[in-house]
Amino acid sequence: NTLAPMAIVAPTARQSVAQAPVNTRAIQDLDAAHYLHPFTDSKALASHGSRVIVKGEGIYIWDSEGKRLLDGMSGLWCMNVGYGRKSISDAVYAQMQQLPFYNSFFQTTNVPAVQLAAKLVEISPPQFNHVFFTGSGSEGNDTIVRMVRRYWDLQGYQGRHVIISRHNAYHGSTMAGASLGGMSGMHEQGGLPIPGIVHIGQPYYLEGGKGKTPEEFGLEAASWLEQKILEVGADKVAAFIGEPVQGAGGVIIPPSTYWPEIQRICDKYGILLVADEVICGFGRLGHWFGSEYFGIKPDLMTFAKGVSSGYVPLGGVLVGDRVADVLIEKGGDFNHGFTYSGHPVACAAALENIRIIQEEKLVDQVREDTGPYLKQKFEALADHPLVGAAETCGFVAGLVLVQKKAANIHDCVPFDSTLDVGMICRDHMFNGGMIMRAVGNRMIIAPPLVMTHAEIDELVTLIRVCLDATLADLT
Ligand code: PLP
Repeated sequence: NTLAPMAIVAPTARQSVAQAPVNTRAIQDLDAAHYLHPFTDSKALASHGSRVIVKGEGIYIWDSEGKRLLDGMSGLWCMNVGYGRKSISDAVYAQMQQLPFYNSFFQTTNVPAVQLAAKLVEISPPQFNHVFFTGSGSEGNDTIVRMVRRYWDLQGYQGRHVIISRHNAYHGSTMAGASLGGMSGMHEQGGLPIPGIVHIGQPYYLEGGKGKTPEEFGLEAASWLEQKILEVGADKVAAFIGEPVQGAGGVIIPPSTYWPEIQRICDKYGILLVADEVICGFGRLGHWFGSEYFGIKPDLMTFAKGVSSGYVPLGGVLVGDRVADVLIEKGGDFNHGFTYSGHPVACAAALENIRIIQEEKLVDQVREDTGPYLKQKFEALADHPLVGAAETCGFVAGLVLVQKKAANIHDCVPFDSTLDVGMICRDHMFNGGMIMRAVGNRMIIAPPLVMTHAEIDELVTLIRVCLDATLADLT
């Protein structure tokens, strides 16, 4: 019985979890024996063992060997208010005592779900007055697919089912989410995309903008949407979906001209505009939603992650009046929903999370203070010999590792992809005490929104030291 030699000793109330004895090797062995991880080569994992994370506090996490790491990725783009918020645990505990679960099907409801729906309407742009809850961002995007198709069906446009998305987008791991996403590695597994989902190029200036200004390239990338609409037939296209800033694709920040032009094209053809705010929502770009940063007016917004800062899983869709009015007036039953839609404990956690964001003015802070400070400090990393470009947008940031620098980023010499320079750099980051993610040759961060100036200084110093170590390794 592999469970017999229990490796973790439960910490007492006073004892720090980081100091609790954890038998790392035993946990790694059990992990490799039984736990199939997401996005992981299980065989490779078994050969070197996973990192065991045992504690989080503020912007730091600790592993089972007592190593402290600055979590530059906010868990997985979600820990907006940072780790160790006792008031969220208290809210969760109280709700569990009161009503741990009840469903929202068949004309029942619960108090935290109603209060959270009203709160989300209060903090979102004025076109949003309704919310559909899910358990995750992927389920949110599945809901989007069902909803936009139903919207057009109800108005007599039965064939209007095609959704246009972008290459290198990430919209989740369910069949519809992975289909909306533009990750070839995901499409290759399981016969994706499902029918009725097509893709256009991404607005990645460093990849496609040679010889153009960012503004020219932004307009060009948006024009690919119009081309695709004409190719598919405007009467067949239901919606366009995009992340305001592509996160998992490598923090691809679009040129300023891109989103307004996308909005113009959607309006011209009457196509629904969907913003996937799973990463960009809840203050990450210095506004409640990334759409506001780019000045667009989506008809639907997917959310998850920052809504509860990941303390309890929660996602959903903010439904604009244009769609909600049709669904409610003409729709009858919407035959869609999840057991955990409007889960009272998750909603209680989200309500407390949003209260903290409001009380600590984290959205304003990112927009007016810490975001500009991070920009100034992080973008200065562009002087490092390994860095071709460094850019930020609110509290997401990315830098490109290049073999040889040039004045113009398009003239830099890239690393041979087989070298896996990003992974080499990521390992140095980890050894140096910093979680930074590698996407190809891009190194990215999305730190907790609670960071102070001193913590930003520490983050940028750590990155520079680890870039030096990477450079030394490569030369
Ligand atoms: N949409 C975006 C933009 C995401 O980044 C993610 C996850 O990273 C998702 C959707 C999927 O969310 P989840 O993993 O909660 O299903």
